[in-house]
Formats: sequence, structure tokens, C-alpha cells
Amino acid sequence: MKEIRQYDVLILGGGLAGIYTALKLDSNLKIGIYVKDAINKGSSNLAQGGIAGEINSSKEKKDEHYEDTLKAGSYVNDKNAVRILVDEADDALKDLISLGVKFDVDKDGNLIKTLEGGHRSRRILHAGGDDTGNHIMSDLRNTLYQRTNIKVFENEMAIELLHQDGEVKGAIVINHQNEEIYILANKVVLATGGIGAIYQNTTNEKFNCGDGIAMAYRLGLKIKDMEFVQFHPTAFYDDKMGQKFLISEAVRGEGAYLKNIEGERFMEKYTPLKELAPRDIVSQSIYREMYDTFSDHVYLDITYKDSDFVKNRFPTIYKHCLDYGIDITKDLIPVVPVEHFLCGGIEVDLYGRTALKNLYAVGECAFTGVHGANRLASNSLLECVVFGKRVAEDINKTKDQCEKINIILPDMKLAKKKYNFKDIRQETRELMSRYVFIVRTKDGLEMAKKILTKHYKNLLKINVLSRYYYETLNMVTVALIVINQALERKESIGSHFRID
Ligand SMILES: Cc1cc2nc3c(=O)[nH]c(=O)nc-3n(C[C@H](O)[C@H](O)[C@H](O)COP(=O)(O)OP(=O)(O)OC[C@H]3O[C@@H](n4cnc5c(N)ncnc54)[C@H](O)[C@@H]3O)c2cc1C
Repeated sequence: MKEIRQYDVLILGGGLAGIYTALKLDSNLKIGIYVKDAINKGSSNLAQGGIAGEINSSKEKKDEHYEDTLKAGSYVNDKNAVRILVDEADDALKDLISLGVKFDVDKDGNLIKTLEGGHRSRRILHAGGDDTGNHIMSDLRNTLYQRTNIKVFENEMAIELLHQDGEVKGAIVINHQNEEIYILANKVVLATGGIGAIYQNTTNEKFNCGDGIAMAYRLGLKIKDMEFVQFHPTAFYDDKMGQKFLISEAVRGEGAYLKNIEGERFMEKYTPLKELAPRDIVSQSIYREMYDTFSDHVYLDITYKDSDFVKNRFPTIYKHCLDYGIDITKDLIPVVPVEHFLCGGIEVDLYGRTALKNLYAVGECAFTGVHGANRLASNSLLECVVFGKRVAEDINKTKDQCEKINIILPDMKLAKKKYNFKDIRQETRELMSRYVFIVRTKDGLEMAKKILTKHYKNLLKINVLSRYYYETLNMVTVALIVINQALERKESIGSHFRID
């Protein structure tokens, strides 16, 4: 017997994009939020630096934010989307506060604003010092749990979208015992986050396999700008592979210097903006400097700042480094660039609508065009909120049309096997890290493509009903999309750097 559940709106993902969208939906709608891990896991909870935008901002300040976003994105951003992002930031931030989010304030109660690379002025709000995402998310979850129309399901992973006659009608989800559940819904929102798991080293959780993007791709939706993978310049360097702890850009915003292995500052060799250049430039400069100094990391130096200021402003980073024997008020912090954020994703319009009826995408899995070739720091949390609200507004307009869903449920005919596909996942990560990282060549991209295409074809023949199978298939799928789009874009731009 098939287990079937039904909602007016099904949201896949419980990061900022998913939760904020749910909170803006009409309270008469029955909403199910499904997350593949625990609700307090995922990039939104890990965000450190902050959220860009200003409250009661002037037209001039908004224009500056607009220009900085375009400049960081190498001017290939969608200008309409950027205009919306900066113009609606003010309301978005006020709304977060009204929903219970407590941003850091000074002793007079004024919001404190910080600076990050690519921003010409201090316009980033933060919470808990450098624990912004965790604070925003737990404040919003407190509000969410008071809404009786919204139910959250943890450790239930969507594997495919249900569709019929060109309309999306729900999704198939598997629980931790790999049993399938059919979720019917009038509207489905993909808010499944990024793709960090396809790289060996990333700031993302290891479950960020690009599931939503791969599911949309299997339905023929257009996936755009995937070559623009953003590499964060300063993740904490250690000798283990996998998820890396981030040393927020705000550390440079507050004055930290980058130094090479010899203890020399080097950024001015590459750009007059030095440490506060946009991320693509800083990552590429560090990559070059590591190459020239035959080393696998560089350093951040904030030791010259007042030690109480550093401890209070960056309590999470201070504690993490201390656990590794590094006192950041006295010692240099070893750092290295790693995968961090995806600028591309599922193509949507300015209301988060995909080309398929009833299907929306929002947050890091969506391509709104706001980031161009390289995201301006702290614009992604803002994107989740501004476009999450727009998705909700669009769904709210049609709330009276929620009705019984007619669909012939597919018979999955999938084998229940315990295969773990570990070698394929490992090889995917190795190839992406070697050939599709900060510096790319045609030969390297083609080599990675050849091997991954073979895995992709084999995986399609196997068809297993398990989390391992779908995560592996999704990783290989999105890796191939990144490679194909990187091959198509022959010129270097933003975070896509070709040396052939
Ligand atoms: C360490 C770190 C620091 C960052 N700092 C900042 C910052 O300071 N400012 C800023 O603006 N941005 C920052 N970013 C980027 C920003 O946090 C993310 O882009 C943003 O939070 C993405 O939100 P999201 O809701 O789209 O995805 P996420 O928050 O990643 O949530 C994805 C959700 O989807 C669920 N999911 C995934 N696949 C499935 C599936 N198949 N079925 C069901 N559920 C699924 C996951 O369980 C999770 O709940 C940071 C990112 C990282 C990793």
C-alpha cells in the first residue's frame, strides 16, 4: 500500500528560503516542510557574516548597493532582479525583525552594521556577532512552531517530483528506512540549497548534493549559470577533507590582512582593493600566491586589533580556532579557498516561478540572476527573504484554487539494494576539485566530463530506491551540468577562470 499525504503547499527544504516562504504564506493554507536532515542543519544555520541591506535606506544608498552587486557579479547579473533585491531589502529586514529576529545593536539600541568585500560602505546586519544564521534561523523557527497550519518533517528526502500533463503535483519522498511516501500538493516550492558536496572541501554540509536542481533537470527545466561556483577565499585550513569551518569575510571587513606563508601581505600585488576585493578576485589571488610560494594555505592576521573587540565580535571563530590551538588575538589563522556558494540554479522568474506549472524555486537552488558571475557577500540570505516573500505572494493569490489533486501515481519499480556508491561520490569530488575548481582548462573539464558521463549512464541503468543512490545520481548530474556550462563559457569572468 502506498503511503500518501496531501498539502496545499509542499516546501522541500527548511533553510531560510523554505522557512521564510512558509511564514509568508496565507495561514489558511496547509503546508508541509520536508528536510532531508535535521531542521537546524544546512547553510542558513551556518551563515556568519550577516545579511546585506539597510533599514530606512535612502534611494542613494539603495543605488550604491545595486552598483556594488553588479560590480561584484561582473555586470552579467539580471538587472531587474538586482533592483528588486536592493529595493525590497528594507522591508525584508523590518519583516525579519517583526518575526522575532534580533540583530546585534550597540549600547544605544542602534543596529550595528559591518563591512565585507565588495561593499563600499557598512551595510550588513549581523546577529550573535559571527553567528548570524544560527540566530536568524532559531528565531524564525520559534515563530514557525506557533503556526498550526505548518508541519515540519525531518530526515525525509525528496527524490523525484510528481507531475502529470505539464503540471507538478507533489513529490516522492523517502524516509530514513528508504520507504517511499507520495506527497500530493497544489504547489511545490524547491528550497533545497546548494551543491557543496560535489567538491572535496566546502563550507556546506555534506548533504548539499544539489537534489532540487537535479530533480528539476530530470523534468527538463532550464538550469542556468552553473559554471559560477563561488569559492570562499578563507576557510579554516586543516589537513582533513570535507566540510570546512568558515572564517567570515567580516574578519577582513574589520581589518584582517592576508599574508603568505612567509608572513608577507600580498593582496596589493593583485588588486588595489586588497583584502576587500570581491571574493572571486581574492580567491584567485590566494590561489596564485599559494602556487608561487609552493604552499597549500595562506594566513589571516587580525592580531593587531584590540583583543577584546576581536573576541566579542567573532566569538564563534575565536572559539573554533582556540579548539585547534590558535588564539586569533595572538596567532595567524591558516586559511584556504574552498567551495562555498552556487550563483546559478533552476531558472525562475521574478516571483520564483519555474517554467512548469505549480513549481517554484527559491534560495540557493534557484537562479534569479541577482548574483551574476560572483555573489556579493551577504546578498544570499537577503535573496532568500526577498524572493521567498515573492513566491509566497504569488501562491497566496491562487489559494482559493487549492483542490483535490488527480494524479495516477507512478510505480517506481526500484530495487531495494544496500549499494553505497561511495567510489563514485569520491571520484566526483576528486575530479571537481582538480579540474573544475578556481582555475579551469578545456582539457581538464573534458577529462572530468568523460569519466562522469560514464558514471551517469551507469547510474541511470541501475535504479535503486535509496538515499545513497539518489544523492550519488544528483551529485553526478549537477557536476556534469557545471562542467558542460564551464566548457561552453570560454572566456574568464567572475568566479569562472579559464587559463586556456
Ligand atoms: C558556512 C557558510 C556561511 C555563510 N555565510 C553567509 C552570510 O554571512 N551571509 C549570506 O548572505 N550568506 C551566507 N552563506 C550562504 C547562505 O547561507 C546560503 O546561500 C543560504 O542560507 C541558502 O539558503 P537555502 O534556504 O537556499 O538553503 P539551505 O539553508 O542550505 O537549506 C537547504 C534545505 O534543503 C533541505 N534539502 C536539501 N535537499 C533536500 C531533499 N532532497 N529533500 C528534502 N530536503 C532537502 C536541507 O535539509 C535544508 O533544510 C553562507 C553559507 C555557508 C555554508
